[in-house]
Amino acid sequence: MERVLATASPASAVVGYTVGIMVDTTDKQVTNDARYAPKAGTLESGARDRAELAPEEDDAQPKRALVVMAHPDDIEFTCGGTAAGLAEEGWAVTFCLVTSGDKGTKDESLASHDLAALREAEQEAAARELGVNHCLFLRVPDGFVEDGPELRGLLVRTIREVQPDLVITWDGYRGFNHRDHRTVGVATLDAVFPLARNPHYFPEHAAMGLRPHRANTVLLAGTREPDYFVDVSAQIEKKVDALRRHASQVQPASREEWLKRLRGGRETAAQQGQVPWAESFRRLHFGGTSAPNRKAVLKRLAKEAAEAAAAAETASADGEASQNATRTDSKDGAKVGTGG
Ligand SMILES: [Zn+2]
Repeated sequence: MERVLATASPASAVVGYTVGIMVDTTDKQVTNDARYAPKAGTLESGARDRAELAPEEDDAQPKRALVVMAHPDDIEFTCGGTAAGLAEEGWAVTFCLVTSGDKGTKDESLASHDLAALREAEQEAAARELGVNHCLFLRVPDGFVEDGPELRGLLVRTIREVQPDLVITWDGYRGFNHRDHRTVGVATLDAVFPLARNPHYFPEHAAMGLRPHRANTVLLAGTREPDYFVDVSAQIEKKVDALRRHASQVQPASREEWLKRLRGGRETAAQQGQVPWAESFRRLHFGGTSAPNRKAVLKRLAKEAAEAAAAAETASADGEASQNATRTDSKDGAKVGTGG
């Protein structure tokens, strides 16, 4: 399942990117979707439907989600339940880890590259617990993620490869956080908008057969200003099992102990009691006419209209049948039953 973009060893630098022609854009479409902005920390009308997260233009195609985080275990802590739920619903989910967490130990005898290999294996095992079979490791050195053309090029290339409907990443604007988390959040957002969508950014990708791509929805995880909540009550055990796979990072604990730990954390966005477990995000929409909720409404209206038309037809056919039935003793009795 492993597919690696960078050829560098885990402890070395990102390689292989030529700086694209950087063109300023006036195409400022980013909006914080106020329609889904309940007061921070509340579930406005129950948990959100994950189906809202992608346009509905082509239901035959599986929806694609790309989760970009800084270190192995970031995904499981912030949005593991959401990823598991998307996978259950048939989404193609890809995890992209910018670093392989090669500094995440106090054990001086454990070499960075051995730790990176261990943590990649833990990440893949955790992904499998969540029903996700596709992990990309960019192998930027842990703690040294720098927001520049090289990183943005890798992220744009990943977006153009995966072509996601939905991107989940760190909220890079939340204030103090691990510098890799901040940097990955900001750079990923920049990669989504405007870089990945405009062909003159990183034009060398065209020679790789990659097309510009527009991802319209982004969920920012680990945010302090959540306005979007995903009910993960049905996925919480998968999330816990995935967290337990990061054995180099977390104390061994039973599922029950983990659930107790998580009770005091972010998942208690469900603390309002509307659902047992939720993960919280800030949701961004990047223009376009395919705002998912609007599509969903139009689709529902079309379905209701079709159902109403079908019901009217049935009623009319039944009416004809009963009209025929009243004529059983007439000379037209032969027609009886043609309506039903
Ligand atoms: Zn991290």
